[in-house]
Parts: sequence; structure tokens; C-alpha cells
Amino acid sequence: MKHYIYGVDIGGTNIKLGLFKEDTLELIESTEIKTPTERQEISIFEHIAQEMNSINQKHQLKFDDIMGIGLAVPCPVKNGFVQKCPNLNWKTMDIAKNMSLFLPPHITVKVSNDATLAALGENNSLERPFQNAILYTLGTGVGGGVIIDGQILEGGTGLGGEIGHMPIPYETDEICGCGSKGCLEQVCGTKAIFKRTKELAKTEHTTINLEHLSVKSIFDAAKDNDPVGLQVVHEVSKAIAYSASILAVVLDPEVFIIGGGISKAGQFLVDLIEQYYQPYARFQTGSVPFILAKTGNQAGIIGAAHYLKK
Ligand SMILES: [Zn+2]
Repeated sequence: MKHYIYGVDIGGTNIKLGLFKEDTLELIESTEIKTPTERQEISIFEHIAQEMNSINQKHQLKFDDIMGIGLAVPCPVKNGFVQKCPNLNWKTMDIAKNMSLFLPPHITVKVSNDATLAALGENNSLERPFQNAILYTLGTGVGGGVIIDGQILEGGTGLGGEIGHMPIPYETDEICGCGSKGCLEQVCGTKAIFKRTKELAKTEHTTINLEHLSVKSIFDAAKDNDPVGLQVVHEVSKAIAYSASILAVVLDPEVFIIGGGISKAGQFLVDLIEQYYQPYARFQTGSVPFILAKTGNQAGIIGAAHYLKK
């Protein structure tokens, strides 16, 4: 009895669910459903419970066999509470309590931020997990998660690990989504990368197709020594390296894990980040390795499952 747990990753568009064995945390099945758009403070949890029910039936399980559910959500979370979640139209809410409304009372519910739990998922999926790890998720937005002394970092209000909004020395008049200027995300987010590519292409020759821009096309061009592609990729790598050097002296991590869509650029990106990181690094932080994330878009459900078990 109660030999199974769920890891669930709630996003603005989709909700991913994973059924895991409780003892080994082996992933048995993962599915994805659309995030409902109406009355989200209730409907999201209702849909999750329904989907759990169908997965249970498929595996001849009952809710009695389920120990708990870990939830990863796209907003700052402190002790299971969210203050505001623009991605999901949630206001102040006890997330675990709302989820529990749709589940039998014996099922434990634990909640934290998605990027933070992704860090836990990535780190714990390593052959030898570290006690201190920092994850960068490079995509449309730039996010991150911090594991310190084996624990996730939520911080005082749940903002812990918001790496994308670290100020970096970058002159811009544009306002970031957070309301400030000069955030890491304004150099390393997909939107910023596209904008910079188009800007440079006004004065430099490039083989990049500006009509159908993709991060992959820009990184591929850089690998082929395209001057615009190279310039953009170097700027992105330098900004990440700069931010990592600050995190390194403050948090003393044992590893930096690079994930998210942009990390598909692979070792090429990691090598460039390391190259820029070295001159910034203080004390022994120069020896902290950068590695590529491996779990892809399952980091959230894996992290949520691991967090529940902790
Ligand atoms: Zn910002």
C-alpha cells in the first residue's frame, strides 16, 4: 500500500504528470494535459486529480496506493503559499490545501517553484548528486534553482533562485518583464537573442535567416564562424559566466547545470561559458564545473517527486 507518488509540473500551457515508485523514484508513466484556463484556482487541481485517477486505473492502482503528490508551479512559493502568479491568474493561496480538496486526506501534498524543483530533479538525476548545485534554465525566460546543503532554496518570500533577474553590466533602455533594466534575461532570453541578432545583422553580413529565426539557427551559424552568430553567442556566454561568478562566491556551489531550450546548443555553449567564467572566478570557484542538463522537460516532475519524498 502507498507505494507510489506523483510528480506534477504545472505550466501556463500544459500540466505534466509523472507516476513514480515511492522507493526507487523510478518513473513509471508520464502524461501531459492542457492547463484549463477558467477558474484556475480550482479547475487546475480538479483536472490534476481526474488525470491521476485515469493513470491509476490504467495501472490498476487506487488512491489508497498513492502516498503523495509533489507540485511544481511557475511562481514564487514560500512554505506552500503563493502570493501572486501572473502565469496562472492565482492570487494569494495555499496551493497544497486547494489540491487536497480533490484528494483523499491521506495523500500528502508538497509544493514549490518549478525551476527550483527542476534544479532538484536535475541534480538528483546525476549519477552522484551534489549537495550544492545551481541550475540555469535558458529559454524564453531565464530561470534558475538553487540547492544548498541538499535543500532547495526558497528564500524569505519564495524568490530564491530568480537568476534571470540578476543585474548585469548591460546598457539598455528596455524594461524587463520584472520592471527593471539590465537583467540577465535581457541578454540571454530567447527574445533578447533574436533582437540582438537582428540588430547586428544591420551592419554585419550573416548567413542566418532573419525571417525564420531560431536559437538553433543562431548557434549553428556561430559554430560555422558566422560573425553575427558568434557575437551573439559570445555575449550570451559572457553574461551567464558573469552571473555565475557572483553566485559562486555567494553560494559556493559544486556544480552549475545548464538547462532549457538554449542549452540544446550543447557543449559548444558550455565551453564558451567556462572560458568567460575563468577570469571572473575567485578563490577555488574556478574549478566549479558547468555541465549540461539531461532530463529535458521532465526535470520538473522528477524534482517534484524527489521533493515530496524528502
Ligand atoms: Zn528582470
